[in-house]
Amino acid sequence: MGDLVTASNSTCDVVVVGAGIVGAACAHFLMKEGLRVAVLERGIVGGGATAAAMGHLVAMDDSPAQLALTRFSLQLWKELEDQLPASAEYRQPGTLWIASDDEEMTEVRRKCEVYRSAGLACEVLDSVALGEAEPKLTRPLAGALRVLGDGVVYPQAAAQFLLQVVADRGGLFTDCNVVSIIGNEVLLGDRTRISAGHIVNAAGCAAPELTPGIVMRKRKGHLILTDRYPGFLRHQVVELGYLKSAHSVTADSVAFNLPPRATGQILIGSSRQYENEDAAVDHDIVRRIMERACEYMPEVATLSVLRMWTGFRAATPDKLPLIGPSPENPKVLLATGHEGLGITASMATGRLITDNILQRRSLISIEPYLPSRMTYVAAHV
Ligand SMILES: Cc1cc2nc3c(=O)[nH]c(=O)nc-3n(C[C@H](O)[C@H](O)[C@H](O)COP(=O)(O)OP(=O)(O)OC[C@H]3O[C@@H](n4cnc5c(N)ncnc54)[C@H](O)[C@@H]3O)c2cc1C
Repeated sequence: MGDLVTASNSTCDVVVVGAGIVGAACAHFLMKEGLRVAVLERGIVGGGATAAAMGHLVAMDDSPAQLALTRFSLQLWKELEDQLPASAEYRQPGTLWIASDDEEMTEVRRKCEVYRSAGLACEVLDSVALGEAEPKLTRPLAGALRVLGDGVVYPQAAAQFLLQVVADRGGLFTDCNVVSIIGNEVLLGDRTRISAGHIVNAAGCAAPELTPGIVMRKRKGHLILTDRYPGFLRHQVVELGYLKSAHSVTADSVAFNLPPRATGQILIGSSRQYENEDAAVDHDIVRRIMERACEYMPEVATLSVLRMWTGFRAATPDKLPLIGPSPENPKVLLATGHEGLGITASMATGRLITDNILQRRSLISIEPYLPSRMTYVAAHV
């Protein structure tokens, strides 16, 4: 990758702070439009929350705005498919949202209608069809919703690929700590200043350090990675109770959520915890994740675990990301706050940021994600 010119008067059209999947996607779409872009990263490319993620590319319908963003993003991931290297492990195994009782089957049918009306291909599976679709699940389960277009990707490799494309097109990348953003300048740790037409704050959980006043909380998650078991799993399998876990705003929660990786490895997840900023693995949470997984898929108990880790999701109060100009400084665009959907929504975020900078309409409206809404939310919580 190219080195950033460190003269104090360096200029470019857009500086992107943070080379996680979101910053990488922003840089990718900006460069595609011919803008001069510099990406500043203080660690490893994709080494933050991106490296900790499961990589499920998933349509979610907590709100119409969330469904519009994830649906648009899935379409952009699909368009990238032919360019992605094998290392990015992009596949579309589809998601099975598993219902364990009749009440959850009612939710399956509701979800199916919503997804179909949004143009997403999906079908309701009864108990027998579910057993055939995913033979290692415990029986009987009530059924499931199969969402055919959902995917899985290896997030860090995808971020690295996007930044390599940026570098190949002449974009600049440098390993440096951004200390602050003032006006349309970033100040680096060595006191270098870089000015740009716009600055994109894609610093993930660290975004509030550079744009004070952003309301976000860190939400810790654990994942467990197994050895290779090709064919063990066909779909991304998620219990419908995952939605309760994702919606919980107080208690620690775990849910059965397993993606099949292209390598044959299985990721076992997942957990959500607020008020815990210690990155250490909590073995009680790991035990609860394994127990939950074994309830749905008893053979998980026989799998050999290679490693486990934690990561932090950047969560906003209204569960939508912050995409667009900062109300305090319109030269700074925020691209953060994606909680557990940042891998999925990175593509749409990059597209919306690029269209906003170029002052043109996007395929979906940026309105629901604008940071200016937080003033309203803060006043009404
Ligand atoms: C356990 C877990 C599972 C998940 N599973 C999924 C999933 O299946 N699907 C999904 O869609 N999402 C998932 N997510 C969410 C997803 O990981 C995040 O939403 C996404 O990675 C956010 O990307 P980002 O680029 O905003 O942040 P990050 O990846 O954290 O990138 C931010 C970057 O900014 C850099 N940075 C910060 N401050 C500075 C500074 N001052 N100067 C220079 N650089 C700086 C950091 O070093 C970092 O590399 C999961 C998250 C967790 C924790």
